[in-house]
Amino acid sequence: MPYPGGLEAALTRYEPVIGIEVHAQLRTASKMFCGCAVAGDDAAPNTRTCPVCLGLPGALPVINRRAVELVLATGMALGATVPPATRWDRKNYVYPDLPKGYQISQYDLPLASDGLLTFDTSAGERTVRIRRAHLEEDTARLVHATLPDGRNASLVDFDRSGMPLMEIVTEPDVRSAEEARRYAEELQRVLRYVGASDAEMERGQMRVEANVSLRPRGSVALGTRVEVKNMNSFRSVERAIAFEIERQAAALDAGEALRQQTRGWDEARGVTYVMRDKEDSEDYRYFPEPDLPPLRTDPAWLAGIRARIPELPASRRARYVGTLGLSPHDAGILTSTRETSDFFEAAVAAAEGSAATPKAIANWVAGELARLANAAAGTPRGRIDRTGIGPAELAALVALVEDGRVSGTNAKEALAVAFETGEAPAAVVEARGLGRIADDDALGVEVDAVLAANPAAVADYRAGRPQAAGFLVGQVMRRTQGRADAVVVREVLLARLDATVAEEDR
Ligand code: ADP
Ligand code: MG
Ligand code: ZN
Repeated sequence: MPYPGGLEAALTRYEPVIGIEVHAQLRTASKMFCGCAVAGDDAAPNTRTCPVCLGLPGALPVINRRAVELVLATGMALGATVPPATRWDRKNYVYPDLPKGYQISQYDLPLASDGLLTFDTSAGERTVRIRRAHLEEDTARLVHATLPDGRNASLVDFDRSGMPLMEIVTEPDVRSAEEARRYAEELQRVLRYVGASDAEMERGQMRVEANVSLRPRGSVALGTRVEVKNMNSFRSVERAIAFEIERQAAALDAGEALRQQTRGWDEARGVTYVMRDKEDSEDYRYFPEPDLPPLRTDPAWLAGIRARIPELPASRRARYVGTLGLSPHDAGILTSTRETSDFFEAAVAAAEGSAATPKAIANWVAGELARLANAAAGTPRGRIDRTGIGPAELAALVALVEDGRVSGTNAKEALAVAFETGEAPAAVVEARGLGRIADDDALGVEVDAVLAANPAAVADYRAGRPQAAGFLVGQVMRRTQGRADAVVVREVLLARLDATVAEEDR
């Protein structure tokens, strides 16, 4: 706790102002400006390279159409404006991970600008303005290693060099560490729904940087900002910003002038540390890329991209609450991934006209089915839409439960069996006799058997101790392995017992 009294105390004096930059690796088959395959995690180093992404003299870039489309789709999903034409710029700097000595990026004409992202926080809904989304190429990866002969070395893996990267930058609209986290989580969902990126933070497919400054409460002018990097989970985004707010508040209290810096997040120690004093953008000597033509965004092309954008999580959440009557909590869980949301909606559609309500289906999708899928995570069936149990099959099972034709416990069993065998859950209910004993005659046989086997309890009941009936109901439920409806069992049992009592009274 670098601030006396902690974060709460710091927040009473200062207002945090936060802008977020996210880099996302785009889901393309090939790199940004060459035909090299995008390397998976398991590819051996330097096996996905060519003269273009190695920056060899004379090699010329060719634009990856798919990468451009994914940035445009993301921009549209964020409600951003796409200009009629954009261009590429060279960002010049010298570093061993940059073979050409410059990165092809976009400077003053990004593919998308002026968007919005709305997301939920514990304090309600918030909207953050998106300044821009642009496309650039990734750098190579530096690996610091000890060689077999004991020398320390920095090795360069060019497999990442030239991978398509999208940068999304917000206006300084974020006001707390929690908001920053929620923004990043919602953006991840949007990227995944759109199919732009797998956006796995732990795998470096989505990198979040936070620009953090403070200003005294009530003042308007922006303070000096610090850019925080190296946060590789949503939790560390929240922790790093909270730390940085306290650190800056303490410095401001002490009358220190903050320096515009880039700081890293040390997850183990829970602190930020200085990486470097910040370069100004002029240092990069941006100029238009002479090897690539400007890129025109044909309206028909844009319309085609727009038509393929699915309904986004925020809109689905609102619909689930407003139209389907789910709680905001359930709506959040069901829309956490597009597969889950699509599966849920397909099940609701299949259930139309049956007893399976959206709420009941939601419980089964987010509950039992999700549990089976999670338990199989990492296997081919470890995803909600790949368990082998289709939306209509799940809906049919839920309808049986809601109709009272199978108990919840037995339906779970049927689902687990269906997951193992690939049968339809309703067929499992039938084949294994898991359905309720609805027939009064069949139930009567079970009740009679229990009465005959428990003369002591029957005698108790007759002696005026009605609790004995509860024990007998339990025995029937046990005999029928949960297939009887306890309420009906009780009725049948009491009718039998009272009839016997009446007979004896006569
Ligand atoms: P650069 O290109 O050098 O990273 P930008 O001016 O493009 O700088 O800003 C990067 C991010 O920092 C944006 O998200 C922006 O909203 C945010 N930002 C700018 N000024 C401040 C500030 N004073 N406090 C917090 N965030 C800021
Ligand atoms: Mg920046
Ligand atoms: Zn290449």
